[in-house]
Amino acid sequence: MVIKLVPIERVRSGKRLELRDVINVIAKVLSTGGVEYPIVINQNFEILENYELYEALKRLGVKLVPIADRYMKTFIPLEQLGFYDDISPDPLKVFMNTLELLYRNWPTPLVLLRSLSNSERRVWAKLEGFNPFSGSVKDRIGWYMFIKALEKHGKNIKKLIYEATSTNTGMALAAMAAIHGFKARLYIPRGIQKASDTLLKVMGAEVIRVPKTSTVEFIDDVDADAKKDGALHLNQFENDYNFEVHLRYTAKELDLQFRHAKVSPIAIVGGIGTSGHMSAIALYFKSKFRDSIKIYCVQPKPNHTIPGIRRIETGMKWIHWLKIDGVIDIGRDEAIREAINIARNEGILIGLSSGAVVAGFKKLMKEQSLDKGDYVLIFPDHGFKYVERFDEYFSKESDNT
Ligand code: PLP
Repeated sequence: MVIKLVPIERVRSGKRLELRDVINVIAKVLSTGGVEYPIVINQNFEILENYELYEALKRLGVKLVPIADRYMKTFIPLEQLGFYDDISPDPLKVFMNTLELLYRNWPTPLVLLRSLSNSERRVWAKLEGFNPFSGSVKDRIGWYMFIKALEKHGKNIKKLIYEATSTNTGMALAAMAAIHGFKARLYIPRGIQKASDTLLKVMGAEVIRVPKTSTVEFIDDVDADAKKDGALHLNQFENDYNFEVHLRYTAKELDLQFRHAKVSPIAIVGGIGTSGHMSAIALYFKSKFRDSIKIYCVQPKPNHTIPGIRRIETGMKWIHWLKIDGVIDIGRDEAIREAINIARNEGILIGLSSGAVVAGFKKLMKEQSLDKGDYVLIFPDHGFKYVERFDEYFSKESDNT
């Protein structure tokens, strides 16, 4: 039998492998840009050898897989496996429902920031605020974790969903709940802006304020409540679909956008909360470009809070599986100031964690003399939720003058 390409759904695997088990295979496929051996199957399309490749390709979102009845050296580029097929936006943006408005409208924009660029340096921002439900990167995981749970549990599931969130994942899940006739109960920490309660209620969710400072402190309590009530708890901090959606879409989109705009980034800078999006971006581009691309993450300085991001030592799953080039501490006021600078220089309103990313980039420029080439900043959300925080900052500023 020669090597054939067949739809991935035709192949059956008797082994369940976790993301952790196949992360190196994913890296290998991305670094070679294709597949070097087929999946060995029997007449019933059951896998005999190369389970890891099958699992890796499934997670990378290919449409076709190479099969054969024995091992043989080959090379099939990812393009031939339908690797990029998921990213096919409707050019005139007509959608048949609001879910399509989310996933068929990707990529989110990549825009050149003139205020940070000069004749030798181009600084690009990926605007995750363009996602429709929460105005944030979290729409991606809300959608993917939710549809994967529906696929797994089928229709017999109780239409109730609980999650710990600092707002954005909550809004994304509230949207998914609304669309699918579920009830959402969202647990948010005490320090989050008041507007969040209203926004989540408008979207039909029940909101519980937990008297703790960070979402990670009460995941176990949410899990216990969910078990007691038979509710779905997707747990963004542990759920590998969080990482996978960014590998399959966010990173892949960036790859296509880089090609289209002839961008070859020296560094990508982003924020870390669960570490989902930056870990997937790091795996994708470190595999593809090796060490010629640097990945930097920003976190709040000790005792500072910046909504959406956390210090790495507070516990994150995926970021420790990969290589990153540095973590930069940012103060809350610096983050707010840079968000204001972007609004005043570029006319777009971004959230505080995006401001932290700008602050991190500026620090890198100074410390590492990053002056030539392309740089990419990931802006996780829109700034509309943070009006109270901008107000506080302005009042503080006027007290000091
Ligand atoms: N920025 C904002 C505003 C967020 O809401 C989040 C996640 O909650 C992040 C950054 C971090 O994203 P991730 O959880 O993918 O690390």
